[in-house]
Amino acid sequence: MNKAVFLDRDGVINKKGRTYYVFDEADFVLNDGVHEALSYFQSNGFLLIVITNQGGIAKGIYSEEQLEKVHNTMKMDLLKSGIKITDIFYCPHHPDVSPCLCRKPGVLLFQQAIEKYDIDPASSFMIGDSEIDILAAKKMEIKGILMPTNGNMMKVVESGII
Ligand SMILES: [Mg+2]
Ligand SMILES: [Zn+2]
Repeated sequence: MNKAVFLDRDGVINKKGRTYYVFDEADFVLNDGVHEALSYFQSNGFLLIVITNQGGIAKGIYSEEQLEKVHNTMKMDLLKSGIKITDIFYCPHHPDVSPCLCRKPGVLLFQQAIEKYDIDPASSFMIGDSEIDILAAKKMEIKGILMPTNGNMMKVVESGII
């Protein structure tokens, strides 16, 4: 079985704040320490899987095509540092528009990722900046690590938790 570091996106990988929904490449800025921390996790044998709520799609604020364009740019940028994002799972729904089981703290996206990549939850971690990230992880018996929004992910590495 594989082990994974599950990652929230907004506020963890990229800066959150200037706009509520980040779908324009001009607004997509990686947080400090992301390259270094992801390199560390990868070199320690973890798959890197992003799980993100993107309710702006249900609200019609941006399209799946726009989101995928931003994600491709993110993946290419990280790949320049040798970092391979295993996969990105996103929930395009919003409870005001289209209730679902995949929006965190729902666990459907975690279940799909675990099955697709044969992941052992007990050997895996979730890094999030919201209690809902941690709650979803807990339901799956994945260890949750709460970091400050737009914080430096190297702090997680330095803490020695992973
Ligand atoms: Mg977040
Ligand atoms: Zn959903």
